[in-house]
Formats: sequence, structure tokens, C-alpha cells
Amino acid sequence: MVLIVGTGVGGAILAMELAKADIPVTIVEKGPYTNVEDSYKYYDQKYYDRIEDDLDLSKTTCVGGSSVVAAGNGVRLLEDELKGYGVDISTELDEVEELIGVHQLDDSHFGEGTKKFIESAKSIGLDVIKMPKFIREEDCTICGKCAWGCPSNAKWTSQDFIKIAVEHGAELIYSSEVTEVLTEGKAVKGVKIKKNNGSTDTISSEIVVLAAGAVDSAIILQRLGLKAGEKLFLDPFVTVGGVLKDINYSSEVTMNALFIGKNFVLAPHYSIILNQNINDDSIEKKDILSIMVKIPDDTYGKIKEGKVVKQNSIKDVRFIAEGAATAGAILVAAGVDPNTIVSTHLRGAHPGGTAAINEIVDTNLATEYDGLYVSDASVIPEAPGAPPIVAILALSKRLSKHLIEKLK
Ligand SMILES: Cc1cc2nc3c(=O)[nH]c(=O)nc-3n(C[C@H](O)[C@H](O)[C@H](O)COP(=O)(O)OP(=O)(O)OC[C@H]3O[C@@H](n4cnc5c(N)ncnc54)[C@H](O)[C@@H]3O)c2cc1C
Repeated sequence: MVLIVGTGVGGAILAMELAKADIPVTIVEKGPYTNVEDSYKYYDQKYYDRIEDDLDLSKTTCVGGSSVVAAGNGVRLLEDELKGYGVDISTELDEVEELIGVHQLDDSHFGEGTKKFIESAKSIGLDVIKMPKFIREEDCTICGKCAWGCPSNAKWTSQDFIKIAVEHGAELIYSSEVTEVLTEGKAVKGVKIKKNNGSTDTISSEIVVLAAGAVDSAIILQRLGLKAGEKLFLDPFVTVGGVLKDINYSSEVTMNALFIGKNFVLAPHYSIILNQNINDDSIEKKDILSIMVKIPDDTYGKIKEGKVVKQNSIKDVRFIAEGAATAGAILVAAGVDPNTIVSTHLRGAHPGGTAAINEIVDTNLATEYDGLYVSDASVIPEAPGAPPIVAILALSKRLSKHLIEKLK
């Protein structure tokens, strides 16, 4: 039996592929099984250790992990970078793009704000593309709530794969946290779990795959004495915006276009924090046009005593400043009043790098413990600075092939 810890991006695809290959699978998930539309209630900030650099981390704890609140961006990345670490995911990237239906949305799903972003960026010489998405146009009601758990369930989430895994016989145990991996010598023997009601239990398994996300997988590995969580990236971002009366961007499909720069990416994106920072009651959500600036950060973070500690390098600050300057130029070209432009504080939503390939796991994602693997964003060695779901899915799909080969 294979025991998978976590039902997010890394865990769900592995569970599905193994169950489809008739391998017995048990999946343990810390959070509850909620409808995607209610998933915004499970945003989790308890690990956030407020330190001077004022950076906060968004993730959700529920069946489906952070995929339930994802913006539906399906960018193909890390293909060349991972080859440099001895890991080729080209085939799996193709397979994953097909599995979750990555495509650019129909023109009917582009609102005025996104069109202005595209036109204005082009007018100042930037190459903008339509964002590759895993959203189904026929179900999407264009409400701007992608990152709040889609109210019309119009995007792929890991819950889709968990359902298929369960249909193929996988056992799903939710509202139960894996607190420890049990070992005998250097071999895995199972896990200890703590249920919502406080009771504890153990489950035996000679293969355990940690897919609890970069923060929680690192915490579990540290309890085994492994040196996980000594590095951490978050792909930090700010959202920069200002007033363009009645543009109504906040209710468009979020992040529906993309500019990939050398040191940052830009995508149209709204945050209520902008209204708070403009601090003028006459300005409503519908009056803001805004852009996310996201960077690949240095891995200057760590998981220490169960908490996220993150600092930013001088290079990180430079990249954010370059991106924000470019975003400002686009906003002004789009007609935003330059006197109104504000920024959010720095945030992060792509934690990774805590159990990197060739450091904590090998190229088959195996740790030094026999039977213990890691298959989530933890294993990505360097910050992508762009949406990582497709790459995490590809890495996990590759692991599923390795395990199927090993166990058949
Ligand atoms: C608002 C938001 C929007 C995003 N939009 C995009 C996007 O459009 N495209 C994109 O590519 N990326 C996006 N991301 C990032 C993406 O969602 C994450 O990078 C991805 O989910 C990470 O996958 P993972 O498998 O590492 O962890 P997760 O998907 O977070 O899964 C980890 C799972 O493990 C569970 N867990 C944790 N600890 C335990 C434990 N001890 N025992 C049992 N279970 C446990 C968690 O509850 C969770 O279900 C977004 C993230 C956020 C927060």
C-alpha cells in the first residue's frame, strides 16, 4: 500500500495514477472536505511569522490543497531548469496539460480591464500573451472570484483527481493530520495521525509519500532529523494599481494575460488591499485597474520551529522594483490616474524549495529513508517566479510512473 500525505497538487495526481494502476492507496488529509466554492474559508495563515519584511503567505488547508483557490493559471515551466538537476519532465508536462485542459480562454472571457492591460503593455513595447488557463469557459460566469474558490466550479482542482482516485478504490481519510512518519532503522513503517477530535492512530505502510506542501512536508521531515526547510522560496508578489473609474476589472477572470520579463512576470490582478491603501471612500472596487508583479526570489527562507521565516535579498527587492516600475508604465498608458497608484505589501502563494532535488531527495524524489518520498512543491530546487501547478503535477506524475514500475 502507498500512503500519501496531503490531497493538494502533488498528492492528488499521484493518488489518481496509482489507484488507476490498481495499487492500493490511502490518502490522509489534514483539512476538511469542502465544496470548492467554500474553500476560501480554509485559508491558513497560522504559520505566518510576522517579521520585519512584512511578507505573508497564502495557502489553504482542505481537500484539494491550494489548488482550490488557484487562479487557474497553467504555465508550462521548469522544463529546462529541472533537466540541469537530472530530471526530465517534458513528457509529463505534455500529459498534464492535456489532463487538466490547459488552453487560452475564448475572447468572450476577456473584459475591458484585461484588454486595456494587453493593449497598453503592447503600446509600450512589451510582448503580452493570453494566460494559459485550466478554466472551462462553458461553466465560468466571469465573477472575478477564482482565488476565493470558484462559485461555479469552472476550473480544474485537485479535488477532481481525488474523486477519480476514490472511484478507483483509494481510501481518503480527511480532517486528520499526519504528525509523524514512523520508521525502523532507515526504513519507513507508516505514519502517526491526529484526528480532529484529538484522538491519535497509526497507519502501517512501507511506502509513504509526503505531499503536504512545502511548509508542512518540511516540518514532518525535520521531525525525522532530515535537514529540510533550511531553504524556502515563495515567489513573492505585489499588486500595483490605481484609479480608472468604472473599469470594473475586479469582476473579470483574474490574471487572464501575462507578460514574462527577464526578472519578473506581470498579470492583471485585483486586491482589496489596494482600496484600503488608496483610503478614499469615493473609490470603489469597480474603479481600480491593477497588475500583479511576481518575482523568482532567492531561497532565503526557512521553516524554523514550525514557522515560516522569510527574508528577501537585495536582488529580490531590485526585481520587485523593476516589475513595479513597468506595471506603473502600463497603468498610466491604460489611463490610470498616476496620482492614485498604490501597492499592496509583499505576499507569497508559491512556497517551495524546502526539500530540494539533489539535496533532500534524489532524482526519483526519494529521501534517504527507504520508502519515503516527497512529491510537492518542496522538491523544486529554485523559485520559478511563475505559477508552478503544472510543473508540480508533472513531477508527481513522473513519480507515479516510478512507483508503478517498482510495485508491479
Ligand atoms: C490564492 C492562490 C492562487 C494560486 N493560483 C495559482 C495558479 O493559478 N496557478 C498555479 O500554478 N499556482 C497557483 N497557486 C500556487 C499553487 O496553488 C501551489 O503552488 C500548489 O498548490 C502547491 O502544491 P503542493 O502539492 O505543494 O501543496 P498543496 O496544494 O498546498 O497541498 C498540500 C496539502 O497537504 C495538506 N496537509 C498539510 N499538512 C498536512 C499534514 N500534516 N497531514 C495531512 N495533510 C496535510 C494540506 O491541507 C493540503 O491539502 C496559487 C496559490 C494560492 C494560495
